[in-house]
Amino acid sequence: MSVLIVGSTALDSIKTHKAENPRLLGGSASHAAVAASFFAPVKLVGIVGQDFPNRYIQLYKKHNIDIEGLQIVPGKTFHWSGEYEVNMNNRRTLATELGVFESFTPVLPASYLKTGFVLLANIAPGLQHHVLDQMTRPKFVVADTMDLWLNIAMPDLLKLLRRVDGFVLNESEARQLTQEDNLVRAAKKIHKLGPKYVIVKKGEHGAILSGPSGMFISPAYPLEKVVDPTGAGDSFVGGMMGHLSTTRGSIESNLRRAMIYGSVVASFCCEGFGLTSTHRVTRAAIDERVKTLEALTKF
Ligand code: AMP
Repeated sequence: MSVLIVGSTALDSIKTHKAENPRLLGGSASHAAVAASFFAPVKLVGIVGQDFPNRYIQLYKKHNIDIEGLQIVPGKTFHWSGEYEVNMNNRRTLATELGVFESFTPVLPASYLKTGFVLLANIAPGLQHHVLDQMTRPKFVVADTMDLWLNIAMPDLLKLLRRVDGFVLNESEARQLTQEDNLVRAAKKIHKLGPKYVIVKKGEHGAILSGPSGMFISPAYPLEKVVDPTGAGDSFVGGMMGHLSTTRGSIESNLRRAMIYGSVVASFCCEGFGLTSTHRVTRAAIDERVKTLEALTKF
């Protein structure tokens, strides 16, 4: 089955204490789509301006990502810039220029409407709703978000949570949403808002799943060197959805392994700026890291 992914398609300018890279291919949907493409066919929904470099279109194509749902319109592509502190865990946004995103209305091509797996990657919850409104009974829908939407679009986000099967957010967002410090209790509160599956991302400490058959802890792959963690969360959920869409049987029985695959793709993402490391990865290299992670966590 294929995975439909909607989210931001961006140019990212990223600064670390070691280097500065302007106008890299970024955005939640780009990271998630490339991550998912290692496992399944991907249909991308997004918008870019006419300044979007052709080499980035070619990169999507190289990964067999269907870009019929990518609008290319006059104007500037969404541009985000951020700077990391030396420890690479803390990041601050330097600028967000919406450009063509300001007037974005996602319109799904007819060939997208019956896609079984849907990832509503980080984007305004109103747009996530708009995509779901157009779909014909998807099998499994997961939404991601960010603190900005908790701050400025909470009513839309709460409505969205009643329409999705899974919700992915990071630990500070989980605390903000539930006013609960303890993540186990926070996950329980989020279930009450709608999603059957709640996944709390903990950066270099992995992720926690809470679902009908209890909890699961997915480790992060231990890296000696982190170059740029931008998009790791999107790669995690993209890889997870890509892998999940290829498995037989119930979501319940396949989600844990899918999370491990997501975690491994996210580790590759952190090893280069933007998508530079992820897009060179092979399926064999992913499988190898999954095996290592299995050995590392067996007891
Ligand atoms: P992450 O590191 O997982 O938080 O994702 C970083 C990606 O989010 C970058 O590639 C940005 O282009 C994208 N991004 C930053 N701000 C926003 C926003 N307001 N809406 C959608 N995507 C964003």
